[in-house]
Amino acid sequence: MKIKSADFVMSNSDVAKCPNEPIPEYAFIGRSNVGKSSLINMLTLRKSLAKTSGRPGKTQLINHFKINGNWFLVDLPGYGYARVSKKDKNTFQKYITDYFVKRKQLVSAFVLVDIRHEPQKIDMEFMEYLGENMIPFSIVFTKADKLKPKTIEKNVGFYINELLRGAWEEAPNYFITSSSKNIGRDELLQYIDDINQGFFNEKK
Ligand code: GDP
Repeated sequence: MKIKSADFVMSNSDVAKCPNEPIPEYAFIGRSNVGKSSLINMLTLRKSLAKTSGRPGKTQLINHFKINGNWFLVDLPGYGYARVSKKDKNTFQKYITDYFVKRKQLVSAFVLVDIRHEPQKIDMEFMEYLGENMIPFSIVFTKADKLKPKTIEKNVGFYINELLRGAWEEAPNYFITSSSKNIGRDELLQYIDDINQGFFNEKK
C-alpha cells in the first residue's frame, strides 16, 4: 500500500465521541516505550505524526489518524492496570476496554512487544483479554534491529510458545519490525491493505 495521505483527526478519551465514519480501523497498543510512535511514523512516512515519547504519563487519549482517506489508524497509549478486583483479576483502564468492546469499526488490533524482552505478564493478559472478547489481533515485535537474526527467531519462538502454553490453541499472526531500519513496513501495510480490500468488496 502506498501512503498518499495521513492526517490527524482527533484525540478523545471517550469512545462515544470517536469519529463515526464506517471505515475500517486498526488500533496500535503496547506498553510505553515499546516503539509505538516510531512504528506509526514509519508506517505513515511521517516524522512526527505520532509523538515519540520520553515523557511518561503523557495524556491518555484515543488518537485517530485517517490514512489515504479510507481507513483509520488508532494510536492508543500504553496500557496498564487500572485496578485489581476482588478475585485478583487485573483489569485494564476503562477507556481502553470501552474502546475495544464498543468500537464497531475496529477490524484488528496490533499489540506491540519489544523483541528483546521475555513475555511480560501484562502483555500476555492483554492478549488474553482480546481473545476473550473475540477481538482479532496480531503481535508486532519491535526493535528487531537490536538483535541478531538467530536471537530474533529464538525470542519469537519463546513468545509464541508461551502463548500456546496458556489459553491459545493457535499461534497469533505476527510481524517482526524495526522502525529505525524500516523492517516489516511492507508486510504490515500489505496485511492492512488485504483486509481493507475485503472490507470494501463486501460493501459493493
Ligand atoms: P512509544 O512510547 O511506544 O511511543 O515509543 P517510542 O516510539 O517513543 O520509542 C521509545 C524509544 O525506543 C525511543 O528512544 C526510540 O528511539 C526507540 N525506538 C523505537 N523504535 C525503535 C526501533 O525500531 N529500533 C531501535 N533501535 N530503537 C527504537
